Amino acid sequence: MVIIEGTALITGIKGTINMVKSLKSSYDAKTITQAQSDILEHLFTLQIDALALQEKHFAIIHEKEELIKKVVQFEQWEKTESEYELQEIVSGTFVYTSKNTQQFGIPTHWLCTQCWDNRKKSILQRQYVGHMSKLICPRCKFSFNG
Ligand SMILES: [Zn+2]
Repeated sequence: MVIIEGTALITGIKGTINMVKSLKSSYDAKTITQAQSDILEHLFTLQIDALALQEKHFAIIHEKEELIKKVVQFEQWEKTESEYELQEIVSGTFVYTSKNTQQFGIPTHWLCTQCWDNRKKSILQRQYVGHMSKLICPRCKFSFNG
């Protein structure tokens, strides 16, 4: 889309240059004045087109930067995924656990499956209420007795 518009802009500039070239061969003052007016009008149109194209160019650069960020996040998440595995800790209750906590030097912990599905790493926290305890996700507030 931007390439087509850029090509149209270049064609417009070439058209203006041709108008100037044809003006050189004309000696009639009225014709020259009319041609100058046409050229100015043409230049204003080209300037507006160039600004619109520049705006789209900046939008594409911004979009490209956002896509690069997403690719980096995606690659980081792939690394995280490779370090964890789904485990059933109680019948019907699943968490993600680190495959090898000793290798990475981090304590054993469990991750919330709901946040995991949203590509978020959220460590479940134990919360005590009297003699009972439950695990709660600080991000999505999912909890279960455990
Ligand atoms: Zn969660």
